[in-house]
Amino acid sequence: MDFRLTEDQEMFRQMFAQFAEKEVEPLAEEIDKKEEIPPELIQKAAEQGFFGALVPEEPYYGAGLDTLSYLLMLEELGKHCASTALTVHVHNTLATRPILQFGTDDQKEKYLPDMIMGEKIGAFALTEPDAGSDAASLSTVAAEDGDSYLLNGTKTWVSNGGIAGVYIVFAKTDPEAGAKGITAFIVDRDTPGLKVGGRELTLGLHGASITTIYLDNARVPKENVLGGPGNGFKIALSTLDFARMAVSAIGLGIAEHAFSEGSRYASERKQFGVEIATKQVIQKYVADSWMKIEGLRHSLYHTAWLADQGERYTAEAAALKVMASEVAFDVANTMVQVHGGYGFIKEYPVERIYRDARALSIVEGTNEILRVIIAGKIFAEYGLKIRP
Ligand SMILES: Cc1cc2nc3c(=O)[nH]c(=O)nc-3n(C[C@H](O)[C@H](O)[C@H](O)COP(=O)(O)OP(=O)(O)OC[C@H]3O[C@@H](n4cnc5c(N)ncnc54)[C@H](O)[C@@H]3O)c2cc1C
Repeated sequence: MDFRLTEDQEMFRQMFAQFAEKEVEPLAEEIDKKEEIPPELIQKAAEQGFFGALVPEEPYYGAGLDTLSYLLMLEELGKHCASTALTVHVHNTLATRPILQFGTDDQKEKYLPDMIMGEKIGAFALTEPDAGSDAASLSTVAAEDGDSYLLNGTKTWVSNGGIAGVYIVFAKTDPEAGAKGITAFIVDRDTPGLKVGGRELTLGLHGASITTIYLDNARVPKENVLGGPGNGFKIALSTLDFARMAVSAIGLGIAEHAFSEGSRYASERKQFGVEIATKQVIQKYVADSWMKIEGLRHSLYHTAWLADQGERYTAEAAALKVMASEVAFDVANTMVQVHGGYGFIKEYPVERIYRDARALSIVEGTNEILRVIIAGKIFAEYGLKIRP
């Protein structure tokens, strides 16, 4: 196996790193404080192709990145601003990609050009107040009415909710049919009957614009059904497999950011007349963190390779996301400790990194549910069906 990046991947990585250092890093603190990503940054990222990352060059003029290059993009963004990385990830992974994969030619032609330009940001609305881990129990309904469906329900935790121009909304077209009665819809922000709630006041990821959306007889044309009636849950699950891998790339970036802040601090901070880096316990913190980061990197790149083989990688993506969220939070926590009291104040980025890292064990399926998926694969070999 060749573990090196190809020339193209290395070139992309450098380009992403330069953009993140030059354009994102200087704004990261402000994004956290003001709780929004400046539209100019979104515009610049769109000009660089970040919002059409997975869309092929032909015929839609996207960036056409391969899976690993896409993950490198999220990793580099995650190294500087997790909120920006999440915004770009949700748009590409959870909105653009399902349209690309499951959409009709008309839907692609209608939505992708504006999405690539960042003129329509995408969002993914699956979770509801009473349907989180048990997403199939969602109660938003879509009833046929002439050439349209009327959608009624409430969607919570919609990342990009406040800035989105288009939402992938999951609703029941056949409430008696359980998961098989769920349909995915492409819903425009200006749909009559759709209302966007205020931004959630979150612990971290302050720039992520997480909102509730309310659907009150929201009229969605039948041509906006994505992937056919009754296929919504399958679309959600396959999208979430890829999303778990993508969010793991952000986790890797977050861990690397915390690590570089902590190791630099340890090499500069003096106590007892010497740099704290000369103390064995600090070396252990740094060495252990480095080992975890390198292990995560290899798992991430390997999962990208698996995904590209076209085989099912549900358990592997679940395992990766658990690992990435735990490494990101553990390294961030350790590097707060390396900073001593200075890790507990907002003057140092590690405080923000720690808060941002905390979200990763919840997003794209909680780690508890993902462990059930992994156990399901293991016990299937013994003829047991494991359910959450
Ligand atoms: C920052 C952030 C961004 C998000 N963005 C989006 C988004 O863009 N779109 C979207 O649709 N959703 C989004 N979500 C929602 C996220 O997917 C849900 O929060 C998650 O699925 C958990 O649902 P819940 O919060 O209702 O928790 P619950 O499902 O109520 O779970 C509560 C606790 O119980 C545990 N639990 C539940 N059932 C079981 C079980 N069977 N076995 C063991 N443990 C169990 C859970 O693991 C968790 O620890 C986001 C969440 C966050 C925090």
